[in-house]
Amino acid sequence: MNGNNVYMKYMTWREFEEKKSHGVILPVGSVEQHSHHLPLIIDSLIAEEISVKLAEKIDAVVAPTLTYGYKSKPLSGGGPLFPGTIDLSGQTVISLAADILEELCRDGVKLIFVNNAHFENEAFLLEAIDIVSRKYPETVILESNWWDVLSQDIIDRVFEDVPFPGWALEHAAITETSLMLYLAPQLVREDKIPSETGFEPLPYHKYPIVKGMVPESGALASAKGSSAEKGKIITDAAVAEFVKIIEKYTK
Ligand SMILES: [Zn+2]
Repeated sequence: MNGNNVYMKYMTWREFEEKKSHGVILPVGSVEQHSHHLPLIIDSLIAEEISVKLAEKIDAVVAPTLTYGYKSKPLSGGGPLFPGTIDLSGQTVISLAADILEELCRDGVKLIFVNNAHFENEAFLLEAIDIVSRKYPETVILESNWWDVLSQDIIDRVFEDVPFPGWALEHAAITETSLMLYLAPQLVREDKIPSETGFEPLPYHKYPIVKGMVPESGALASAKGSSAEKGKIITDAAVAEFVKIIEKYTK
């Protein structure tokens, strides 16, 4: 274990105490189906890997990843009917995130960056952040994700040879598959990338959720055309934008 490690989970309390003034990044993901070619954990893995690259740039600490997330929605994540999608309720996400954030504030951390990689989490994370922030206004708590910070120029580069289906349908598709090909290629089953495309998103939600609302594979758009190079473009751009955001509140 090298001394420069950014992982809080591998630090002693003294090492954490010494480094906490540089800021703490909390990665948040999910356990959710990502079609036939990607494992269940990828939102959490992408959040953690990007957080580590960010922490190395700004010498910050990466808190243990919040691995489970809010309920998968059919039109953005395939929904709860796929085996292995393990959903938390909104109340659980709020309580879990608020408890962790509050503990970090009580430890004297003055800047926390919540790096979310599961679309459905955001409203509940912001609720937790708001609750904690009212009690600890001296701590700056930031929240973002890798897709909202990408400029149009980066999106154009990633989708130069394939159509961009919109962020809601980018589930287990080009961006997540490319990120995994760059960050953890050994976990991608490239031969199992489904060829089905053309899923039309509905402009409304319907409950109860039943089978058949989304493609059988669980992919909402095609991942064909994914590459490690595209994953690196997205990762580098997101990390650079996150650094800019954090520096606004630390410089
Ligand atoms: Zn995902």
